[in-house]
Amino acid sequence: MRIVLQNLTKAFPSRNKKSNEEVIAVNNFNFEIPDGKLIGLLGPSGCGKSTTLYMISGLLKPTSGRILFGDDDVTELSTENRGIGLVFQNYALYPHMTVKQNIMFPLQNLKGQDKMTKEQMLERTQGAARLVQIDGLLDRKPSELSGGQQQRVAIARALVKMPRVLLLDEPLSNLDARLRLQTREEIRRIQQETKITTVFVTHDQEEAMSISDMIVVMKTGIVQQIGKPQDVYDDPANLFVAKFLGTPPINVFEGSVKNDMLYVGSDPVLAIKGVADQAVTVGIRPEGFILDEEGPLRCKPVNVEVMGRDVSVVSTHDASSNPFVRSIINADNKIDVTREYVRYGIKSHKIFIFNKETEERIYFEVK
Ligand code: ADP
Ligand code: MG
Repeated sequence: MRIVLQNLTKAFPSRNKKSNEEVIAVNNFNFEIPDGKLIGLLGPSGCGKSTTLYMISGLLKPTSGRILFGDDDVTELSTENRGIGLVFQNYALYPHMTVKQNIMFPLQNLKGQDKMTKEQMLERTQGAARLVQIDGLLDRKPSELSGGQQQRVAIARALVKMPRVLLLDEPLSNLDARLRLQTREEIRRIQQETKITTVFVTHDQEEAMSISDMIVVMKTGIVQQIGKPQDVYDDPANLFVAKFLGTPPINVFEGSVKNDMLYVGSDPVLAIKGVADQAVTVGIRPEGFILDEEGPLRCKPVNVEVMGRDVSVVSTHDASSNPFVRSIINADNKIDVTREYVRYGIKSHKIFIFNKETEERIYFEVK
C-alpha cells in the first residue's frame, strides 16, 4: 500500500501553562511512501516521529494536511478502519491471556462480513506466530517470555489482521543489545516476506540505516532529508544530517575557502572549484583519512584504539569542534603515537563543507 503524506502538520497547545505558544510537532511533512517498502523514520527524541506515526495510524488527527492510502483519503478515517497494525516500545500484551489469546484478540472483535469462525481465527493466529517464530510458545503467559519474545508476540498481534500498513514505534528500545540486533533482522525478514508497507520509528541511526529501504531524517518537526540510507550517508543535505548518521560520528572542523583552496584551520586540505571565499564548517568522515607522511592535515596523535581489522586513531587538531578527531585506518598501518604529528591526506568524497550560519551543504568540485 502506497502512503501519501501531503503537507502534514500537527500543532499541540503548549504544555507550559504560562506560554500560549503552540508546539509544531510535525511541520509540513510531504512524502510518498512507496508500496511494499520499509521506511525508517529517524531523528532525536522530540523531533516528531511518534506524532507522524500516530497521524498515519489515525490515533492523532492532523492540524492540517492529508493522508492517502493508495488513492483513498484516510485523513478522517478512524484507526480501526485504516487496516493498520501497530507495535509500540512497551509490548502492551494482556498479562492474564496466553500468547495465543493475545495474538487472536484483534480477530475476535471483527464484525459483520469480516467475522471469523474459531477455526479461521486459530489458523490465522498460528500463521502469524509461525511468521515471528513463536509458534512453540502459544500456551505461555507473557510473563513466561523474554523481552524479545514478548515483542514478537506484539508483532504477531499487529500482523494477524493482515494489515495494509505496519507501523512500529521504537519497537526495539526495551530490548538488550544482542536481542535488539536479532529482532531488527527478524523485522526485516518479516517485512520482506509479507511485503507490507512498514514505517519504523527509531532514534537509533544505525538501526534505521541497517534495515530501511529509505530513511527520513527529522529535526524539530521538519524533514531534513529522505533517501536510501547509503545515499543520505554519502551525500548529507546539511550539517545536522551529516552529524546524525555514522559511528564514529563525522569529524567537524572550523575551516575556510580561499582562492580555490579548502582549509581545515590553517591546513590546506583540498583544491576545489566553484565556492566563493568564505569561512565554512568542514565535516570529514572517519574513513576519509589517508595516512600520508606528506599529507596536508596535521593532527596530534593521542591514542590508537584497535577495532580488529581497523584501528581508530584518536588525535587532536586546533580547528576541531570536538575534543578529539577520530580516523579509521587499516590495522596494517603502524601508528607511532609518540610522534608530534600524524599527517593525513583526505578522500575528496568523504569531506563536506557547510554554510557556517545556515549549516546547509555547500557543493564543490574537486580541482
Ligand atoms: P518523538 O517521537 O520524535 O520523540 P514526538 O512526536 O513524541 O517526538 O513529539 C514531538 C513534539 O511534540 C515534542 O516537542 C513533544 O513534546 C510534543 N508533543 C507530543 N505530544 C504532545 C501533546 N499531546 N501535547 C503537547 N505536546 C506534545
Ligand atoms: Mg516517540
